[in-house]
Amino acid sequence: MKQREYPVYKGQVLEVQITGYTSEGQGVARVEGLAVFVAGAIKGERVKIRIAHLGHTAAYGDVLEVLQESPERRKPQCPYEKDCGGCVFWHMSYEEELRAKAQRVEDALVRLGGIDLGTIAITGAPSVTGYRNKAQYPVGLVKGKAEAGFFKNRTHQVVPVRACAIQGEQADAARQIVVDWMQENHVTVYDEKSGKGLMRHIYVRTAAVTKQVLVCLVVNGDGIPKEKQLVEKLLKGVENLATVCLSIHKKPGNAVLGDKFVTLYGEGTIEDVLCGLRFRLSPRSFYQVNHDQAERLYDKALAFAGLTGSETVLDLYCGTGTITLALSRKAKKVIGVEIIDAAIRDAKENALRNEITNAEFFCADAAQAAKRFADEGTHPDVIVVDPPRKGLEESVIESVVSMAPRKVVYVSCDPATLARDLRRFAERGYETKKAEAFDMFPRCHHVESVALLARE
Ligand code: SAH
Repeated sequence: MKQREYPVYKGQVLEVQITGYTSEGQGVARVEGLAVFVAGAIKGERVKIRIAHLGHTAAYGDVLEVLQESPERRKPQCPYEKDCGGCVFWHMSYEEELRAKAQRVEDALVRLGGIDLGTIAITGAPSVTGYRNKAQYPVGLVKGKAEAGFFKNRTHQVVPVRACAIQGEQADAARQIVVDWMQENHVTVYDEKSGKGLMRHIYVRTAAVTKQVLVCLVVNGDGIPKEKQLVEKLLKGVENLATVCLSIHKKPGNAVLGDKFVTLYGEGTIEDVLCGLRFRLSPRSFYQVNHDQAERLYDKALAFAGLTGSETVLDLYCGTGTITLALSRKAKKVIGVEIIDAAIRDAKENALRNEITNAEFFCADAAQAAKRFADEGTHPDVIVVDPPRKGLEESVIESVVSMAPRKVVYVSCDPATLARDLRRFAERGYETKKAEAFDMFPRCHHVESVALLARE
């Protein structure tokens, strides 16, 4: 749509009715057929807005006044919610957030997947605060002082934070100790433009069950000054601190972690318990950030797989082997495939730690591994896939289908790519039987889903 065809103009003030949500949690209104996205507005509300920006397919409005308030409106429980790009749902009840998320999955399935399963069930989280087991605080200069917190919405400007509502206390404690140590010792801050300066991110991973904490400093250098002093301060101030490490990261770009790790204290890894199994976790390995919800999601994936003990199961995108090992207890044999070497090393160690002998792990690209298995004539009874947000490459779908599993269980962190892929599976004879949503990220816009496909 060209600019002159817009029924609204930048700066225009108007009243609109909010009728739904975008995938990013903004309210949506329609003005003469044009979608207008309004952050902080709730379905059912009448709001006075000012048009702030005209995009390619939609306009963006800022709320000036809520004329008719939704009964779901709540006072935000986080002082940073306006600036921080992390959470988007603080202004509404959790029930309304869950409805918005379930609707998003349902809409994606219908519109992009051509799949109508009726209302999609969503499992809400037991707690909407303190649930994250991983924190990544960017470090920046604020009024000349080293600080760490979050990037201000759509910028790389660091806003210092005292406590993040969705993080645990240990992560906040660790962040503050590192910030104090940086200020005391005049430790330099990484500058994206010049590529100079040392500290980039403070990364903290916490184990929900064992409570162990891993603190990792992401640095643009080979070491840090006053290393011993920092470790001592962390040991004193962070309960259950298990390990401290550095991630050497000298390349430009937005990736948080570098490839090389140096352990300053402890083993460089922590252990957690998930679905009754023990998992060693390296900083680089993927691990679901919401422990309790991950257990519920994996339980559902297992139920969808419907194993009896005689099956061979292939788990593509297996990370540290969480789903693979949970499946292993009910299968004859499980095979996990994952591209990150450190995650596969964790997965193999995790099989050992849990005395699981029917699991094999391969470090490979899922597309290549799936093709190789298909070419070799491997016929898993069930294939589980849990790809990153971009979903499955068409070649992965081809290979999965050519292995002719009875069932495919698809765990997804993006309803749009899930729906697209389910359509592709349908074109090749795999019908989507069930799908459910799980809220792993209360107050944030992301939503996880799991779908069961079977050969027609
Ligand atoms: N199933 C695991 C991990 C899911 S996250 C769990 O629930 O814990 C997705 C995983 O896919 C990540 O571990 C990521 O490293 C991996 N991955 C990304 N691209 C890949 C590819 N092309 N081939 C194989 N694994 C890949």
